[in-house]
Amino acid sequence: MKQYDLYINGGWVKPAAGQWFDSVNPYTGEVWAKVAQANAADVDKAVAAAKAAFEPWSAVKASARGRILMKLADLVEVEAERLGEIEVRDNGKLYAEMLGQTRYLAQWYRYFGGLADKIEGAVLPTDKLNMFNFTRFEPLGVVGLITAWNSPLLLLAYKLAPALAAGNTAVIKPSEFTSASTLEFMALCEKAGLPKGVVNVVTGFGAGAGAALVDHPDVAKISFTGSDVTGQKIYEAAARGLKRVSLELGGKSPNIVFEDADIEAAVMGAISGIFAATGQTCVAGSRLLLQRSIHDRFVDRLLAVAKAAKVGDPMALDTNVGPVTTEPQYRKILGYIEIAKQEGARCVLGGEPYTGPGANRGLFVQPTIFTDVRNDMRIAQEEVFGPVLAVIPFDDEAEALRIANDIRFGLAAGVWTRDVGRMMRMSERLRVGMVWVNTYRTVSYMAPFGGYKRSGIGRENGIDAIKEYLQVKTVWIATETSAANPFVLR
Ligand code: NAD
Repeated sequence: MKQYDLYINGGWVKPAAGQWFDSVNPYTGEVWAKVAQANAADVDKAVAAAKAAFEPWSAVKASARGRILMKLADLVEVEAERLGEIEVRDNGKLYAEMLGQTRYLAQWYRYFGGLADKIEGAVLPTDKLNMFNFTRFEPLGVVGLITAWNSPLLLLAYKLAPALAAGNTAVIKPSEFTSASTLEFMALCEKAGLPKGVVNVVTGFGAGAGAALVDHPDVAKISFTGSDVTGQKIYEAAARGLKRVSLELGGKSPNIVFEDADIEAAVMGAISGIFAATGQTCVAGSRLLLQRSIHDRFVDRLLAVAKAAKVGDPMALDTNVGPVTTEPQYRKILGYIEIAKQEGARCVLGGEPYTGPGANRGLFVQPTIFTDVRNDMRIAQEEVFGPVLAVIPFDDEAEALRIANDIRFGLAAGVWTRDVGRMMRMSERLRVGMVWVNTYRTVSYMAPFGGYKRSGIGRENGIDAIKEYLQVKTVWIATETSAANPFVLR
């Protein structure tokens, strides 16, 4: 059995309390690795290493920092298959999906590596006499990066690539359910030439290692991906330390289909919105809004495609729906199915655990579809994070918009229409961070990613994401010295 220690200051370190916890393969139910359980003393050690590494790392010429990240990108590309397999062993998501992610990872390190030497301040015009005024963008210091279990290395890349490119050092706290890929990734960071202490990993639980990292006085910023409930706790704790935060939280995204849409494309979009990744994705299109005139015909076709989805072994390339990653998540999904039934929604597909062929010892939930859902039901308002779709009818554009926006989340939305004017109106009026028109789940390192409302604070990806890891300094230089009146503002 594989045993992982903590990764601190460029080496493998035993946890202070001498405790390890199990990493379970969600498909086989087997414990396949033991992972070190960090406590506050371990976090302290990791933050101290990152703090000591900060001055030298931020002083490395920006182009050289960028080259190290690009080398890391090359190494990740070579290891994509191995890293993808490790992720599947930990989170049970489809190998096809995880391999797609691990193959794509390199682009984040290339893109932000390329940006490292393009961080430019400005010479400012000034109304002051004999003054030269300019700005510099500087790194923050030690940043704490806390990730969720659904896409461990991809979510890490969203944070780590810009953080390092900007000259920060990092302490990472991966999810307790999926620590292995992040730990394996450290060998690549070393090989790429990242100096000791620039990247550290403290594995463990949210209330232990996670909270200690958020509370640590030498951590300048927390970048977090996870649920809105945890996000709120972290925001409150960070406020006590007056720390910066970026929060990438959950969603209950509407996928809206108008009667003029390409129906077959929209059906595939609806499926990808909720059954891909077994619905365990922050951008899941878990509310399907259907114009009443196409409702029945659309649902019929949706049912036909969903029924044909193959449930089973996540490593098999012909599997469409894999197991649920964690037991608490499995119970939560089944709980929401019961709630939806009690609320009066009509279950037209699934609604039970799946124990059929290929289930092995995994925790599976049948792809589930509820119709006759009202937007005020809990099944329409709360994030399930599983393969459970709530179908809500609407009459016209105004009603679609009202339903779509009537929720506390605002991560993403899908719009299916051939009407260009409607595309523009909907894109403008949807209160979400990302709108997909005639597509769903399209993500790139080049495009900002993040949410409105309770779906988050800040943006990842795209050029501006690097600013989340920088602070601006304003410098005034007097070009002529003078003994001016010291008791008034200059
Ligand atoms: P979670 O909030 O339970 O945990 C996320 C991370 O926070 C884990 O590493 C956990 O150990 C840590 N944590 C928990 N309590 C903590 C505390 N008090 N202090 C510090 N750290 C703490 O989320 P999860 O179940 O791992 O992930 C699922 C959630 O993540 C869903 O809500 C999903 O929508 C969201 N998510 C969002 C995005 C996005 O980019 N918007 C992407 C993926 C997942």
